Amino acid sequence: MQAKCGTAYLNELYEKYQSLDDGVLAKYIPELALANPDSFGICVATTNGQVFQVGESQKLFTIQSIAKAFVYGIALEDHGREYVNSKVGVEPTGEGFHSIVLDEKTNRPYNPMVNTGAIATTDLIKGNGATERLKRILQVFRLYTGRDLDINVPVFLSERATSNRNRAIAYLMLNFGMINERIEETLDLYFQQSSIMVDARDLAVMTATLANGGINPITGERALDERYVKDVISVMLTCGMYNYSGEWVYRVGIPAKSGVGGGIAATVPGKLGIGTFSPLLDTRGNSIRGMKVCEDIARDFGLHIFNVVPPKYNLQEWMDGE
Ligand code: GLU
Repeated sequence: MQAKCGTAYLNELYEKYQSLDDGVLAKYIPELALANPDSFGICVATTNGQVFQVGESQKLFTIQSIAKAFVYGIALEDHGREYVNSKVGVEPTGEGFHSIVLDEKTNRPYNPMVNTGAIATTDLIKGNGATERLKRILQVFRLYTGRDLDINVPVFLSERATSNRNRAIAYLMLNFGMINERIEETLDLYFQQSSIMVDARDLAVMTATLANGGINPITGERALDERYVKDVISVMLTCGMYNYSGEWVYRVGIPAKSGVGGGIAATVPGKLGIGTFSPLLDTRGNSIRGMKVCEDIARDFGLHIFNVVPPKYNLQEWMDGE
């Protein structure tokens, strides 16, 4: 097994995939189509507080669907597992992220990683009115990232202006009594959480926090009650990569969540978090360069959850390196 230093290894990945220009920018939210297709950043944060980053790892973009994983955690903290489970399932759909489908027997959305489920978990965020509920989300995200976060207002407004499909989803769930009547407030909160600006480093620290049992390894602050860490990571594993989730587990085997802003956030429990940013997406909405990077890291360091083969590189040496 060879030794490999953190940043040197990430630089190799950056060089390897920088010229890969397959994929397209998300266009269904007009503001997202303005991203620079060449942008590419990678960051790995470890549970012992090391951070390795290359490329545009500090370029801000909107978190989009990646927020869904962390908002699910807040809903669990606000209501407990049983109640949240009565409102949102944990079953992969095999359908696109904005498909309009609910479980026929229970009327529940299938899982919190698709739009139906995420609108339902957003509805569960406690707080007195829109401002307080948004503040709660931003406060928890601050615990995960270790810094104050802002909303990209043009993206928020662009999404809100083109949101008929999400509005239809919300009204369908209201019809079945799965969400509250304050539809416009909850939808705005959902669009705002999607428009939170992060960089690849933030995503790596957020997922390193999950990997570290809910405690941010850099600030030492708790972002998520330890009872719910495995719930969040489980749905990332089974449902986090849109309708590619099964194939993702097969090929990469690391719990992850992607967003149409071009981010991927992956977590290796007990070890590290990975954050990538590249806005060129495949047809399902996953960042193509980001998926390649995660696949290489998983393979080279033997991080697939079911891997039993000696890896190419030693993870501990990487974590101890520079
Ligand atoms: N803002 C997005 C929507 O609801 C989230 C999409 C995503 O990243 O999957 O359409």
